[in-house]
Amino acid sequence: MTARIHEFLRTRDDDGPCLVVDRDVVRDNYLQFARSLPDTRVFYAVKANPAPELLALLAELGSCFDTASVQEMKLVLEAGATADRISFGNTIKKERDIARALELGVRLFAVDCEAEVEKIARAAELTGAQDIRVFCRILCDGAGAEWPLSRKFGCAPEMAVEVLEHAWRHGLDAYGVSFHVGSQQGNTQAWDQALAASAAIFRECAERGIRLSMVNLGGGFPTRYLKQIPAVEAYGQSIFEALSRHFGNRIPETIIEPGRGMVGNAGVIEAEVVLVSRKSRAEDEIRWVYLDIGKFGGLAETMDEAIRYAIRTPHDGEASTPCVLAGPTCDSADVMYERIPYDLPVSLSIGDKVLIEGTGAYTSTYAAVAFNGFPPLKSYVI
Ligand SMILES: *Cc1c(COP(=O)(O)O)cnc(C)c1O
Repeated sequence: MTARIHEFLRTRDDDGPCLVVDRDVVRDNYLQFARSLPDTRVFYAVKANPAPELLALLAELGSCFDTASVQEMKLVLEAGATADRISFGNTIKKERDIARALELGVRLFAVDCEAEVEKIARAAELTGAQDIRVFCRILCDGAGAEWPLSRKFGCAPEMAVEVLEHAWRHGLDAYGVSFHVGSQQGNTQAWDQALAASAAIFRECAERGIRLSMVNLGGGFPTRYLKQIPAVEAYGQSIFEALSRHFGNRIPETIIEPGRGMVGNAGVIEAEVVLVSRKSRAEDEIRWVYLDIGKFGGLAETMDEAIRYAIRTPHDGEASTPCVLAGPTCDSADVMYERIPYDLPVSLSIGDKVLIEGTGAYTSTYAAVAFNGFPPLKSYVI
């Protein structure tokens, strides 16, 4: 946690859980990505945290933006970036949203099947938009990732060749290939296999007279939670080596789409202990600790106990025992850590404030709007 966040929380006087994001950390992260992958353009994955202050900061630093919806595009445009710095990276789009994106000036689109290509081609005809670039997302198994994104997005590499040819035949620019190695990817080598597949697609398309230009390396860059993670430089180095291995001296244009790695470590959630209790009177029975935030209030990534946050309490360093950690709603799914209980100090009490670290990504907009009458997570960018 940064000194600025500490000071903000010390003087905060409103009630309820809140997320505080330090924009200096986001600036450092952006510069680190730019340094570690020097020939790669950065498209920040807006869905990780769409706070207007963060989008404005990244726009000013020169970042581009990967968006999932027209609403995200509008946020990016309002933050001061131009449409030529925006991609529509969602492979699942309504045709009328594609048309709206084209009207806003966006020209870079993800696809993973022929039907999606045809939607773009029709929207292009409707709007008269020209020079539309499409890239085809390929499947990636997500091994090594703590929050895998496999199956739902992408197609088999052999099919990508057909999809790109389909785009080319429809007058679109068959621009390249994309993949996502899974979010919170701990293995710096995870890009190798997908880059081998990408190079094969480039070769096959070239044989059909279609010259691809770009590989979109996706996100996956991790945030430090409880376990140590490799540095961004190690990812940059490994990716550069894999590009050289598979593309030789014809390295394509590349982009990355960091979400978690850009904002995760910039945010801290302050929450309150609402109740500490036991389910029986037995001496060694596990304690249940209920916070005023849970799965529906912003900590959705505790689903299946996938992401394990670092939690600080005012009693750190004192004797601790395993606890089940749960949220405040009347829904029995609102339990965060039970399969692997979480060690917390014995003296942790009702009313104590706890800090949940590394929560700058996938929290503020991952909260229910008014489930059980709890307001959505408050968010401050300082
Ligand atoms: C969510 C998403 C990202 C960001 O992934 P992180 O693992 O958070 O970096 C990047 N690209 C696409 C297409 C995404 O859907």
